[in-house]
Amino acid sequence: MGKHLAHTFVSRARQASAVAGPGSIVVDVVIVGAGFAGMYMLHRLREVGFSALVLEAGSGVGGTWHWNRYPGARCDVESMQYSYQFSDELQQEWDWTEKYATQPEILRYANHVADRFDLRRDIRFNVRVEAAQFDDDRGSWLLTSENGERFFATYCVMATGCLSAVNRARIDGLESFKGKVYHTGEWPQEGVDFSGQRVAVIGTGSSAIQAIPIIAEQAASLYVFQRTPNYTVPAHNAPLDARHRQAVKDRYRDFRDEAKQSFAGIHFRYNPESAVEVSEQRRREEFEARWACGGVTFMGAFSDLLFDRRANDAAAEFVRSKIRQIVEDPEVAEMLCPDNIIGCKRLCVDTGYYATFNRSNVRLIDVRESPIEGITAEGVGAGGMTYLVDAIVLATGFDAMTGALMRIDIRNGSDEALAEKWQHGPRAYLGLMISRFPNLFTITGPGSPSVLTNMLPSIEQHVEWIGDCLVHLRESGKKRIDATEEAERRWVEHVNEVAGGNLRSTCSSWYVGANIPGKPRVFMPYIGGFPAYVGKCEEIVARDYEGFAIT
Ligand code: NAP
Repeated sequence: MGKHLAHTFVSRARQASAVAGPGSIVVDVVIVGAGFAGMYMLHRLREVGFSALVLEAGSGVGGTWHWNRYPGARCDVESMQYSYQFSDELQQEWDWTEKYATQPEILRYANHVADRFDLRRDIRFNVRVEAAQFDDDRGSWLLTSENGERFFATYCVMATGCLSAVNRARIDGLESFKGKVYHTGEWPQEGVDFSGQRVAVIGTGSSAIQAIPIIAEQAASLYVFQRTPNYTVPAHNAPLDARHRQAVKDRYRDFRDEAKQSFAGIHFRYNPESAVEVSEQRRREEFEARWACGGVTFMGAFSDLLFDRRANDAAAEFVRSKIRQIVEDPEVAEMLCPDNIIGCKRLCVDTGYYATFNRSNVRLIDVRESPIEGITAEGVGAGGMTYLVDAIVLATGFDAMTGALMRIDIRNGSDEALAEKWQHGPRAYLGLMISRFPNLFTITGPGSPSVLTNMLPSIEQHVEWIGDCLVHLRESGKKRIDATEEAERRWVEHVNEVAGGNLRSTCSSWYVGANIPGKPRVFMPYIGGFPAYVGKCEEIVARDYEGFAIT
């Protein structure tokens, strides 16, 4: 930071703290969350000369990777891609060890980034933000923590994550259970050893599918309570070949640029053929090749898998045929076979999931027809039986995309609550700003591609956009930015229109809020693809921040 700028901040902070009162902290920008979004936001703001402070509820950096420490937790985007690219030195010096990094390795990486860029001195850990209120007269945000600490800032950036507000699922009697209850998204830091225990896992989404094979190896017996079977493809994880790693590093910039041209911001082989136009044999060959390669790029096997029901049915039937091959008991295999649209809910990636049901200590309990009746002190009741267990693992997911924001009492200068504004579903301009809530930014918010893309490049794009926007405001002598209602309305319409043409919007997933009772059903992420979205953001800036009121 230049000497002049530093002086400006100190004097501005002094003036402001006189207004804010003793014990309050005043900065240009307050950032909520020290995951990958919050960490890079802090770094970027420092680079362009703003004072910033990060408030983090957890005791360390890493966000998702700080909290989700359940056994088997691993990213299903390849490690060479699920990493920052803003610093070439960083991406050159860090050596990932596996094709898909484990949670501990990603957390080590997050800590390395925090140390390397000296981020911790501007992060307050164990501070959970409870409320954020904009003051129209002062033109600043006041954030209040659970412990009553107060933080004033001209701008507020919510880097609170898309899958961070856990959904504990309301199951009668849970509090009466005398054993331990864990949620995959709030796993104890010291880890859990299930050796010799009888364990229940509730849920069969991505988290459960990763955890179940490992828990099954430890536990004396494992009951898996499945409401909806999920499609999962093998990861075929392996140690990273040093030559491959170096080859990517040698052309990292080009590699990253190529990835950004793809729909999901992920570098992979996309097949432009239509599944319904090729022969049965060609279809099978391509699906087999994708299965052998592993990972979420299975959905890139043909261009129409998410647009044409017949194409989708072919992919779904292929996966069902694999389940029937792997699972020895035909009845269990049928219970595991999903009958919905493949890729409609997030495709899962596993290591040995289906084969786990061949183990004699694992039992699958279908709770679709007869839901879990309740939990007693001893175990889980379903289908008229009580399954006696020592521990329960809730792999019941998250209040996605809006949950973390709605759990903070966010209010604008007219005391309107965000919860009120979003009572019929989230509305935001580009997933970056919310009209009538000035100077408040969201990173990968609803209406941005976020969860449908590789999160890291999506985060970096948002952070850089916000950083540039604040520089623009400073250079034009302005201090207030708000999305216009009209621009927001048009963007929301566009988001809905694009979602309407995609099979993904048609089923009950967390993408549409269907996993949370009472949550309005709205397809929340932008499904127009990463390149189209980035193009739109750039176009808006080139048109002098079209759709934003800057005063
Ligand atoms: P999820 O996909 O929402 O799965 C939650 C599971 O809990 C579902 O099977 C759901 O059943 C079940 N469930 C919820 N309430 C229930 C109840 N009352 N009774 C019985 N079952 C209940 O959550 P998740 O597995 O944590 O994954 C969330 C997202 O996080 C993923 O989609 C992915 O984007 C991300 N994630 C990624 C990775 C990775 O990179 N490999 C790993 C983990 C998570 P229904 O389907 O019937 O609602």
